[in-house]
Amino acid sequence: MNSIMVNFWEDFLDLLYPDGINCYFCGEKIAGADRFGVCSDCMGKIAFIGDKSCMRCGKLLETGELCSGCRSFPYSFDRAISLCLYDGKVKEWIYAFKYGNKPYMARPFARMMAARLKELEDHSTIRAVVPIPLHVKKQRQRGYNQAHLLGRILARELKIKQVDALVRKTNTPPLSGLTRLQRMECLEGAFEIKDANLIRGIKNVLLVDDIYTTGTTTNQCARVLKNAGCDKVYVLTLASGINL
Ligand SMILES: [Zn+2]
Ligand SMILES: [Zn+2]
Repeated sequence: MNSIMVNFWEDFLDLLYPDGINCYFCGEKIAGADRFGVCSDCMGKIAFIGDKSCMRCGKLLETGELCSGCRSFPYSFDRAISLCLYDGKVKEWIYAFKYGNKPYMARPFARMMAARLKELEDHSTIRAVVPIPLHVKKQRQRGYNQAHLLGRILARELKIKQVDALVRKTNTPPLSGLTRLQRMECLEGAFEIKDANLIRGIKNVLLVDDIYTTGTTTNQCARVLKNAGCDKVYVLTLASGINL
């Protein structure tokens, strides 16, 4: 969908499902207006990361500015932030969003992500949202790319465009359980620029995905974007894994 169609569609959804009536997650009636369409009960189950995080990778950090990983391994992206921890109810909701055919759950998630991003000083320099792509086979199986769904709402909230600048060339097996080095080897050459014209002249971009684990995928994508001329690559993910 182009951006005009996306906005039209989102406006239409606003009419069909006015926010603040029923919670997107539990379906219960919401008392009073809520800008995300999430009831206070569900809101209380989200472990927001906020500022207690690594300045580079966005992982939860009790003290200091950089986590031990970022002190020893410089990522290609400039800064990553995650809205919340990948834990508890959030894990269930993300599972339902990805595999339960509930694409509408992108709306509350992406709106909360946008609100978090807007707290960062330099967010206004970002000119495009770039979703982490799925391999075409996986996307066909699932019916949609969850990162793309989050990205299009984020783009709308930030009043910038979403650009499908990247393509996933290899269908990598699940990376869980692999070390960082094994993940890097697995993903080497997995992503490419789809069409250089799509990001020509765009300096600062925002990579979007649902879950941040070791940062290997986002790092590969950031490197590809920088090689194609991007200046700064920010990363925004819905949830960040603990001890991954
Ligand atoms: Zn709820
Ligand atoms: Zn870090």
